Order: sequence, then structure tokens, then C-alpha cells
Amino acid sequence: AFATIPQLLQDAVARYGPRDALVFPDRTLSYYDLDRAVDALASGLLALGLEKGDRVGIWSPNRLEWVLTQFATARIGAILVNINPAYRLSELEYALNKVGCKALVLAPAFKSSDYLGMVRTLAPELATAECGKLHAARLPHLRHVIVMGDVPDGQGIWSFDTLSELGGPAQQLRLPQIGATLQPDDAINIQFTSGTTGQPKGATLSHYNVVNNARFVTDRIKLTENDRLAIPVPLYHCFGMVMGVLGAVSKGAAMVFPGEGFDAAQTLDALNKERCTALYGVPTMFVAMLQDLETTPRDLSAMRTGVMAGAPCPVDVMKAVNSVMNMDEVTICYGMTETAPVSFQSFVDDPVTQRCETVGRVHPHLEVKIVDGNGQIVPAGTQGELCTRGYSVMKGYWDDPGRSAEAIRDGWMHTGDLAVFDKDGFCTITGRVKDMIIRGGENIYPREIEEFLYSHPQVREAQVFGVPDDRLGEEVCAWVVAADGAELTPDALRQFCRGQIAHFKVPRHIRVVDELPMTITGKPQKFVMRDQMVEMLR
Ligand code: ATP
Ligand code: MG
Repeated sequence: AFATIPQLLQDAVARYGPRDALVFPDRTLSYYDLDRAVDALASGLLALGLEKGDRVGIWSPNRLEWVLTQFATARIGAILVNINPAYRLSELEYALNKVGCKALVLAPAFKSSDYLGMVRTLAPELATAECGKLHAARLPHLRHVIVMGDVPDGQGIWSFDTLSELGGPAQQLRLPQIGATLQPDDAINIQFTSGTTGQPKGATLSHYNVVNNARFVTDRIKLTENDRLAIPVPLYHCFGMVMGVLGAVSKGAAMVFPGEGFDAAQTLDALNKERCTALYGVPTMFVAMLQDLETTPRDLSAMRTGVMAGAPCPVDVMKAVNSVMNMDEVTICYGMTETAPVSFQSFVDDPVTQRCETVGRVHPHLEVKIVDGNGQIVPAGTQGELCTRGYSVMKGYWDDPGRSAEAIRDGWMHTGDLAVFDKDGFCTITGRVKDMIIRGGENIYPREIEEFLYSHPQVREAQVFGVPDDRLGEEVCAWVVAADGAELTPDALRQFCRGQIAHFKVPRHIRVVDELPMTITGKPQKFVMRDQMVEMLR
């Protein structure tokens, strides 16, 4: 077992040095190359005066510099802070200040977002600041702005390349000394949750959390140094940086990055060209790739396995991924940012139904239980809140002892997810505790009503949640998106429900909308819908 991120990389370099580590569209690095580039950058960070425990933000799509920064910060014991690529000014300001970032590493731009422009707006002082001596009123902790790619130095910013040349022998000598002081339990990464149920929370993770989780995830898909793993999922999320990067390094596998953001055709071309054997994605990515394959078939005969996570996978999608994409060993995972992330995963040879209807079985070295509202363990087959305990549970939410104590009690992470075990230990996620509706003393699970609404041929999306009601405590409310060209009315939908589901589950309020409020990880935000609905019902 490895205890720290630098140890994990060092071991891979020693065993697999000449083999491919990183494959980007325009550049390939061996494990030796990766090690050298990380050393140079880590020395540069030391030359800036950054120290163990300092927070370094990273704001970028999937680029080579992301991976270098991930390992270079770990090598000096600095805490990497993942900044969501979709953030705008106010969110960036919130995140950087919340954790007190001293340095920010960023791509100059991504798609239509001018990242450097936004930083300049937040910190106009940058234009006249001496490099490394920024003092900005709105970003009081930030001293260094480091920009990736081909940008000129000056105007207060460091270019990534200059920084990689800044360190000298003095810094080089310090690196192994710092390595010897790193402890497995040191905080190494702050990752913000998706913000599905409210303001994102900064989960503080240790070396030990992520290094070991990465290893167990890739154990289950039997990844080896002969595998080539495609990573089209964002690096800023644990799916990319932990399960992807650290997972691949723990086995000496090659990482193939098809592009900066997800694109179905680009990903399929990379799978084909690079003879990839494994692929990570969320179900909607697989759906898009299957669609693309219908018009443009590719030879994917090298493919074998991968991970589909983040949301439930429909059975026919799973079957098509098994056959059309040649991934008959693909697995499903369940996890959350706070548990570094994975706690359940299927095995490569679980039957297809188990790989769709459940999230598989628990990972090694974790304890799990399902409890009722009073904290009592419920029997198999009964729904309740899923709790996990063990090596993967985060240190806490950054600078938020109140919420940390609420989430982690007696070592148990209260996931906030509703789940049920079958007698063989397969787990099914059935919704979120927060989303459960209590109407006149009756517990109502939105997922059940949503699934019923989906059976209406003209319903494309359905989201069910509770809104306050004077008489019953809560009432059932549904937001529905109609299929293309369909005419849906609330009355017709209510009619559709009557006699088919219990009367108290029939949504009292129904709205047909054009689109749903979503997080950038593609999850519908019920709290936003609920707030708007409460406003409308006033
Ligand atoms: P926030 O905590 O900010 O409200 P979030 O919980 O969506 O957002 P993440 O940590 O990115 O943020 O996501 C973890 C959640 O995603 C889990 O708690 C669970 O609700 C859901 N999830 C993850 N994997 C699966 C899966 N395989 N099937 C169903 N739901 C899943
Ligand atoms: Mg959450």
C-alpha cells in the first residue's frame, strides 16, 4: 500500500519509467518524462515561497498542466484546490477566499470563458503588481497568478513555462526532504461537491483517502500496466483526478486524454487511434458515443472495461456499451466527493441486471450500514440512509466544523442518500434523504413518481419534490420537460396518474418547463426548483 501521492508516483516511475504515462492529442509523456516535469514544476513552486499546507487553486479544463500541477503540489505538500471550470466571477471569488488560496494556476481561457479576464476583473491590482506580490482587495490571500500555455510573463503573472525553469539546485535538494515529512493523513486536496442540494461544500481529502481509493477502483476493473485508459471526464472532479489519474498511476497504465472537454466523436477517435482498453464516463456520455457510432462506426476491438458512474445507467444503454463498444467488463460505481469518492462498485463479471439496477457491492476496507430516522440499522430490503466508515472518509469540510460534525458522526459519513441492500450485499440508490416528501405523515419517495412519469411517452424529463403546505406539511410537486414537439398539460398528466399510483402521490402542482436547472456535472437541482415554486405559489 502507498501512503502519499509522491510515493505512488515514485513507485510507478521506478517500475514503468519508459512506458507511456500521459497521452494528449499533441504530446506524449513517459513516466520518466512525467517525473522530470513534476520535479521542475515543484521546484518552481518552492522558489515562489510556497510551503506545505498552502492552498493552490487550479482552474482549467483537461490539460497536461493540470496533471503536472496535481503531482507538483503534492510533492511539496501544498493543498490543491479544484475550481469548477464552469464557475463565473462570484463563484470563483467565493471558492478562492473560502479556502484562502495563495496561488492560482489557470488556463487563459476555455470555450467562451475568458478565465484570465475574469481574474483581472476580480483583481485589477494585477496589472501593476510585481510578480508574486499581488495584493488584491477582493482576493486578499492571493499572491501568485500562474497562467498555462503560451502567454508572456509580466503584468503580475507567471507563465507556466517560466515557473518550471525557476527552481534551481537548492529547491531540487529540498524536494526529497519535504517528501520525508509528508504524512498520509495530511490534507492534500480540497474538492467542492457538485452543488446539487445547495451551495457546494469544500471536502478536505488526505493523501491516504485518495491514493487508496484510486487503487481499489482500478483493482476492480483489473487495470494493469498494459492498459490504456481514456479519461474524457473532467480532471477537476474526483472521477478524473482520483479514479482516473491516480488510478492509472497506481497500476502504471497509460492515460489518454481525448480533449479539453467532452466530445463524443473526439473521444471515439482517441479510443480507436490509441487502441484504448478502458474508458470512464457518466451515462449521458456513453449515450452520446453510441449515437455517434451509429453513423460513424470505429474499430474498438481493443476495448475491455471502464467505469460508468454518477447516475443510474439504463439497462439498454449498458447492453449496448457491452456489445457495440466492446466493453463487456464495464463497471458501475457509487460514491461522493466526501468519500474520495467510491464506496460501491460492481465486479467485471456481475450479471448485466446487477450492473444496472444496483451500484454493486462495497469496496474493501470500508464499513457500510443503512439506518432509519433514529439511527437504527434496518434489515436487508428496507430503505434508509446509507452511511460509510473507513479509510476513505474525508477529514472534514474546509473551515466548517459545524457541517463537518453533522456529516461525520462517530466516524460514519452520513451520505444523505437513500439506499437499500439485497441479501447478497448489492446496493441500490433510491434517492436523497433531503428529497423525501412527508405529506400528512406519509413518506413519499420522489424517484417512484418520477419513474412513473417517465413511462408517459411524451415526457422527456421529470423531477418530483415537496413544497410546503399549510394543511399537510408538504405537497407533491412535479416539473416536467416534454419530448420534442409534444403538447403536455398539467391536467393531462394528472389524469395519466390517477388510478395508476396512490392518490397521495399524484402531484398536486405540475409545471411543464423548457429546461431544468442543472449542475455542471449534469444533475438537476431540486432546491432551485423548490425555491422558484414556493415563490410562484405565494
Ligand atoms: P452537493 O453535495 O453539493 O449537493 P452532490 O452530492 O451531487 O452535490 P457529488 O459529491 O459530486 O455532489 O455527488 C455525489 C452524489 O451523486 C451522491 O451522494 C449520490 O446522490 C449521487 N450518485 C453518485 N453515484 C451514483 C450512482 N451510481 N447512482 C445514483 N446516484 C449516484
Ligand atoms: Mg453531496
